Amino acid sequence: MPLRDYASKRRFGVTPEPPAATSKRRGRKLAFVVQKHRASHLHYDFRLEWNGVLLSWAVPKGPSTDPSVKRLAMAVEDHPIKYADFEGVIPAGEYGGGTVMIWDRGTYTPEDPNVGKSLREGEIKFSLHGEKLAGNWVLVRTGGSDSRQWMLIKRRSDQQPGARKPPGDLLSAAPRSVASDRLMAEIAFESGGDVERAADADPPAEIRKLLTRLKRAAKPKASRTQESAPTKARPRSSKRAPA
Ligand code: MN
Repeated sequence: MPLRDYASKRRFGVTPEPPAATSKRRGRKLAFVVQKHRASHLHYDFRLEWNGVLLSWAVPKGPSTDPSVKRLAMAVEDHPIKYADFEGVIPAGEYGGGTVMIWDRGTYTPEDPNVGKSLREGEIKFSLHGEKLAGNWVLVRTGGSDSRQWMLIKRRSDQQPGARKPPGDLLSAAPRSVASDRLMAEIAFESGGDVERAADADPPAEIRKLLTRLKRAAKPKASRTQESAPTKARPRSSKRAPA
C-alpha cells in the first residue's frame, strides 16, 4: 500500500494533516514544494511529485542556492500530493508536532522523465520553477541503495556568464510563506501553536518588525480610551476607527 508509512505515523483525528490518499496527476506538470517545519528541530521538507505521491526529504539546513554547498537531505516517507497545500500546526505530542510553512512551491522538470529509475539509481537531476527556487538541481544518494542519506545540490550548469549572482542566503532573505505571506510565528499564532518556538525559526529582524507593527496598531486604541475616560456622560459615537 502506498503511503502506509505516512499513515502509520499519524492520527488523523488529531493532526490537521491530509489523509493518506494517492492522487492522479494534477496537470501536465509535476509539482514540488518546500515546507519549513519547526518540529523538535527546524528543517525544510523538500518534496517532488512522482507517481501519485510526494517523494520527500528532510533537509536540516534547507536548500542552498550556492552550487559549492551540498545540503544533507534525509529521505523520509512518501507524502500524499495534497500535503503540498498543508500549512499550519501539527499538535504537540503528535508525529512532527510543530509549525509548518509552505516556504516555496511550483513545478519541476526532471532531466530523465523516468523519475522512478533515477530514484532507484540514486541520482535525480531536475530544474525547479518555483517562486523562490529556480534553475538546475540534483539530489544524489550517498552510500548504498538502502541508504536514506542524500545530498541536495544546486547545479552550476544553468549559470550564464554575467548572470546575476543568486542571493547569498535565500532562507533568511525570503523567510515568508509563498501561500500566505506569513512568518512562522504568525502561522503558529493563528493556528493555536507555540508562537515562541515558531518565532525562533524566523529571522530576528522580521520578528522585530512584526512587534513594531503590532505596537503601532495597538496605540490608537489606547489613546481613544484615555480621551473618552473623563467624559463618561457624553454620548458615545457609534463610529469606529477603521481597523
Ligand atoms: Mn518535516
